[in-house]
Amino acid sequence: MPSRKFADGEVVRGRWPGSSLYYEVEILSHNGKSQLYTVKYKDGTELELKENDIKERFILSQEGSYMSTQYSLRPRREEIKLKEIDSKEEKLITKGPSSLRTFEMTTPQRKDLEFGGVPGVSLIMLGLPVFLFLLLLMCKQNDPSLLNFPPPVSALYDLWETRVCGVYLLWFFVQALFYLLPIGKVVEGTPLTDGRRLKYRLNGFYAFILTSIAIGMSLFWGVDLHYVYEHFLQFALAATVFSVVLSIYLYARSWKASRDELSPASSGNAVYDFFIGRELNPRIGTFDLKYFCELRPGLIGWVVINLVMLLAEMKVQKRAAPSLAMILVNSFQLLYVVDALWNEEALLTTMDIIHDGFGFMLAFGDLVWVPFVYSLQAFYLVSHPHDMSWPVASLIIALKLCGYVIFRCANSQKNAFRKNPTDPKLAHLKTIHTSTGKNLLVSGWWGFVRHPNYLGDLIMALAWSLPCGFNHILPYFYVIYFTVLLVHREARDEHHCRKKYGLAWERYCQRVPCRIFPYIY
Ligand code: NDP
Repeated sequence: MPSRKFADGEVVRGRWPGSSLYYEVEILSHNGKSQLYTVKYKDGTELELKENDIKERFILSQEGSYMSTQYSLRPRREEIKLKEIDSKEEKLITKGPSSLRTFEMTTPQRKDLEFGGVPGVSLIMLGLPVFLFLLLLMCKQNDPSLLNFPPPVSALYDLWETRVCGVYLLWFFVQALFYLLPIGKVVEGTPLTDGRRLKYRLNGFYAFILTSIAIGMSLFWGVDLHYVYEHFLQFALAATVFSVVLSIYLYARSWKASRDELSPASSGNAVYDFFIGRELNPRIGTFDLKYFCELRPGLIGWVVINLVMLLAEMKVQKRAAPSLAMILVNSFQLLYVVDALWNEEALLTTMDIIHDGFGFMLAFGDLVWVPFVYSLQAFYLVSHPHDMSWPVASLIIALKLCGYVIFRCANSQKNAFRKNPTDPKLAHLKTIHTSTGKNLLVSGWWGFVRHPNYLGDLIMALAWSLPCGFNHILPYFYVIYFTVLLVHREARDEHHCRKKYGLAWERYCQRVPCRIFPYIY
């Protein structure tokens, strides 16, 4: 049996992940298999540490020198040096934000599995693709009411088309080419466990412009985009197959990754890790696969699909111009995508990039779910016209703008604060100090509710569905699903923050009791 150096209950000094700082911690337990110690910091934060990251604690002896709680074989000079280091570290902590503000805490192995563990993720992986096709088939029906569920399912050989697959691959690789173009700023991501910072090129917005030019030219040359509408399900299948193949590749290559390169969400269970992703930042050279898939093929693909639906509506309904409802859905979602690409750098501090690995969850989510489900309202409007008056449209536009202002201001405020906590523009905001050196905002948008950005996002989601009228629930699928997703995501983030910030997070929760919806939740 492998030996352990520290006993349960022993008070020692533990390194804070990603930094060179040591704090007093209590050993809670030791995992003989992973050789990791579970330790508790003074502020209540619990983490798993390697033995190398733990040192004996030195207590002040009667003579005034530091000595180990276990034994002290060190010469007096070294003890004094350690004392100086300790006091320097103490100063660094009390100094606040500048010392440690950007490092992200990560633990290589998690004990508690999210998404319902292995049964939950298995169900999601098998159920989501099936559900996607049922949803799309329902949307194609003349009467997409819930009473007509399940819709007639076409045979699989009807759904598979090699040419569609070719077009999909072409789309993916053209986006990859745009990503590789040496245009746009290069920035550094948040520090990794080993202290390194990966570089990312911000050129998503340029990729969008180039794609728009390419689509404009295709239309000019008479390329029939109606093909995409007619083969919409086939495209969804091609993207699904591609995301599964990509997930298998990602899982296989993750076995070559070092321990430091694994995602803190990975568990050691094959099924769970296939879903959540084992490797945090899989890269081929400088090509970051996760970062690329997060914003490019799926997100830009979504607005292209919306445009396809707008043209299809004119063709199918023999209209000279698109309906007001279709224009609203297209413009609202275009604003959302352009905003995400314009603020691409904000992606680098999201849970997707810093916490989750790249596996089936993000591959399927980014490449299939986003483009094919988020465009459901536009797809619905092609065969289910809804006429609306300008006064109603104005109210929906006002709702969308209200959601957008909350979403954008909340995200920008937090990003600006994380980038530079001493920014004079944020000087009026109140903060709570945490033992990590990073502070938490407790006034402004983040003092309103604990996730104001989710609130804004949900208001916008409702505004995307309203132009479709109230005849069917199907166009409201997005807002219902998104509420479930964000409530679950909020709970995940809450769990991470509680672990990360301990008592400081508890204090934040007391000051700001509502999670997403003021006075409700
Ligand atoms: P957030 O941008 O909300 O980031 C959460 C992190 O913010 C926390 O982990 C914490 O990280 C920091 N934080 C939390 N509270 C505070 C505070 N009071 N003061 C300062 N920092 C705080 O998370 P997401 O990545 O989930 O979302 C990003 C955006 O993407 C949101 O607008 C969301 O709506 C949107 N989104 C959209 C999806 C879609 O499908 N359309 C899907 C998922 C998200 P730390 O302290 O380490 O900085």
